[in-house]
Amino acid sequence: MGYSFHAHRITGGIGADDGFWESLEDGGFRLPRCADCAEWMWPAHHRCAVCGCWEQRWEPTPMDGRVYSWTRVHTAVDRAREGAPDLPYVVIVAELPAAAGARVLGRLAGPDQGVRVGARVNGHIDPPSPRTRGYAVVRWSVSW
Ligand SMILES: [Zn+2]
Repeated sequence: MGYSFHAHRITGGIGADDGFWESLEDGGFRLPRCADCAEWMWPAHHRCAVCGCWEQRWEPTPMDGRVYSWTRVHTAVDRAREGAPDLPYVVIVAELPAAAGARVLGRLAGPDQGVRVGARVNGHIDPPSPRTRGYAVVRWSVSW
């Protein structure tokens, strides 16, 4: 079964992060920068907070960083019931130095030994699947 970005757009979103989801579906990891002053604009928003520019460009970004925060999820929420068979699982907020410390949410890949604030992580992208409600997802792996 194929998936397409437009069929799975984030409900209630304002569209500023469309480029993020589109790049994940293409297997790439891109974060937005201001087209004028190059300020990182993450979380994505339509207007640069530094110079007021309304244009952004989506820049390929290395998926290397450190754990900023993490938690273990034990309960399936309504909008993620398809992931219930994976419970419990760990969600990580990784801080990426290549993007001025942008913090990006993703699921932990592999066992959770070694997960702690400050641990090195690297990421990859899982393609859309029924378990992720048709979204491509970021997976973080702890580096040893
Ligand atoms: Zn700017």
